[in-house]
Amino acid sequence: MEFEKIFQDIPAHVKALHGKGEVASYIPALACIPGDKFGMALHTVSGDCFSTGDSEERFSIQSISKVFTLSLAMGFEGDSLWRRVGREPSGNPFNSLIQLEYEKGIPRNPLINAGALVISDVLVSNLDDPKKALLDHMRVLSGCFDINFDSEVARSQAQTGFINRALANFLKGNNNLFNDVDEVLDLYFHQCAIAMSCSELANASLHLANHGFSKAMDESILTTEQTKRMNSLMLTCGLYDAVGEFAFRVGLPAKSGVGGGIIAVLPGVYSVAVWSPALEASGNSLAGAAAL
Ligand code: GLN
Repeated sequence: MEFEKIFQDIPAHVKALHGKGEVASYIPALACIPGDKFGMALHTVSGDCFSTGDSEERFSIQSISKVFTLSLAMGFEGDSLWRRVGREPSGNPFNSLIQLEYEKGIPRNPLINAGALVISDVLVSNLDDPKKALLDHMRVLSGCFDINFDSEVARSQAQTGFINRALANFLKGNNNLFNDVDEVLDLYFHQCAIAMSCSELANASLHLANHGFSKAMDESILTTEQTKRMNSLMLTCGLYDAVGEFAFRVGLPAKSGVGGGIIAVLPGVYSVAVWSPALEASGNSLAGAAAL
């Protein structure tokens, strides 16, 4: 594929979308980010890298973190994990309360907020310092050891995260959260507040295109089977209630976040990360999805 040419052409195409969509203002610390920022980076399994625009600027990875916490949790829990969280697309907003009540506290999948809270609970149960373990994981996977939490974003989410708090309490009330609600929420708000660039995210996701083998770590961090499952979950659940439309238009396993980032992989070939903060109604980057 002629990635070099494609990467030269993409910025002109997405320019038409500038001014459209809305930055996620429900998290106050994200409201001030210019909506028309745009960056993209693609890393191939054979070692080539392509990028354009603001690909080195760090942004809040938000729900993209759900892929990486799930990957850690898969290492702790075998198939028993799937008794606590399902594997079906939700067809509902990422923070739906009504679906969780309807389904008696078993979240539809690990890539919506309720499911990700269960995964955070698994990490709190199994790790002495889950925030540090997650940061270390992101650092070694991306090869960038200064990756950190944006503490202002984490604080902003904690101050305004009333719906996430409701989801966590509902899970607890249904015996699907074993640790202290505040401790689980603290991890969740911090994982969403990790700041990374497109280049760093593309590198950190490359193992998903490479049967679970991380070149940065020179080891397999997921088995081939776990990698296949992760990619299946991303394809069916990675963009919330817009996932069918995205699969129809793009056709790649992907995960979005309300910071405007999306990661995607073409198994066996490449990983790609794109960032543009203005979102469509389901909370996915408008220009990012168009670029992909
Ligand atoms: N921190 C965000 C929230 O919980 C993550 C959601 C997202 O990126 N879709 O609302």
